[in-house]
Amino acid sequence: MSVAWPFLEARELSRSYVRGRVRVLSGVSFRLERGRTLGILGESGSGKSTLVRLLLGLLEPHAGKVLYEGVDPSELRGRERRAWRRRVQAVFQDPAGSLDPRLSVESSLAEPLRVQGWRDRRVIRERVEEALDAVELTRAYLSRRPHQMSGGECQRVAIARALVLQPELIVLDEPVSSLDLVVQAQVLNLLLRLQLDKGLSYILVSHDLKVIRHLAHDVLVLRAGQVCEAGPCEQVFGQPTHPYTRLLIETSL
Ligand code: ADP
Ligand code: MG
Repeated sequence: MSVAWPFLEARELSRSYVRGRVRVLSGVSFRLERGRTLGILGESGSGKSTLVRLLLGLLEPHAGKVLYEGVDPSELRGRERRAWRRRVQAVFQDPAGSLDPRLSVESSLAEPLRVQGWRDRRVIRERVEEALDAVELTRAYLSRRPHQMSGGECQRVAIARALVLQPELIVLDEPVSSLDLVVQAQVLNLLLRLQLDKGLSYILVSHDLKVIRHLAHDVLVLRAGQVCEAGPCEQVFGQPTHPYTRLLIETSL
C-alpha cells in the first residue's frame, strides 16, 4: 500500500536556546503541498528564523520532526543528503550579505553547482545563464560584484543562486524586507511567475501581512513561538478567529 506523504511536514517542532532556558518555538506543526506557498507571519522575535533554520536542517529541533515526503533529512548521509540539499534552497533578507562581496555574479551562481560536483565549464555556464534569464537580468550582470548592484538586483541574484540547482522548495526568509515598496512588488511578482513556471513550493516568512497576502495560499500566524492561527489566506484574513490576527490585520491597513 502506498502512503501519500505531504511534500513537507513539520510535526510538533520545539526548540530552545541557551540550554533550554528560553523556549523559542513550541509545538509548531504544518503541512505544505507541492506548488503551494505557506506564509509564516509573525512579529520580530516570534521565532520565524529559528523555524527556517529547522526546516533547512541548520539547527536540530529539541522535539518534533521535519519530514520531506516522509523522510527526516537529519537521518540522510552522503549522496542522499546532497540530493536533499539540492532540492531545498533558501533566500534571506539581506541580499548583499548573502552574496560573497569578492565574487562576481557568475562565480556566485556557479558555486552551488561546483559544490554539487559539476565540472564541465560549458554546462555550468549554460545553467548559470538560464538562472540569470529566469530572474530577468541581462548577461551584463555576470561580471558584476554585489557592491555594483542595487538591493533589488542583488536579491534577484540571490534568487538565481537558489534556482541554479533546480530545487523543488525555496525557503524565503523576509525576502523583500530590505527593499523599497516598488522593488518589493517587482520581486514578489517575479517569485509568483517563477512558481508558476517551475512548479516551485515556497515557505515565505515575513513580518509584513501584505507580503504574505501577495504570495501565500495558506498562512500560519506565529506568536511567541506558537501557532496562534493557521489556514487558507482568505479564511484567516477574511474571518480571523484570534484577536492577535485581528490586531495584525488592523495595524497593516
Ligand atoms: P524572528 O525571525 O521571528 O525575528 P528568531 O527566530 O530570529 O525570530 O528569534 C526568536 C527568539 O530567539 C528571539 O527572542 C531571539 O532573541 C532568540 N534567538 C534567536 N537566535 C538565538 C541564538 N542563537 N541564541 C539565543 N537566542 C536566540
Ligand atoms: Mg527573522
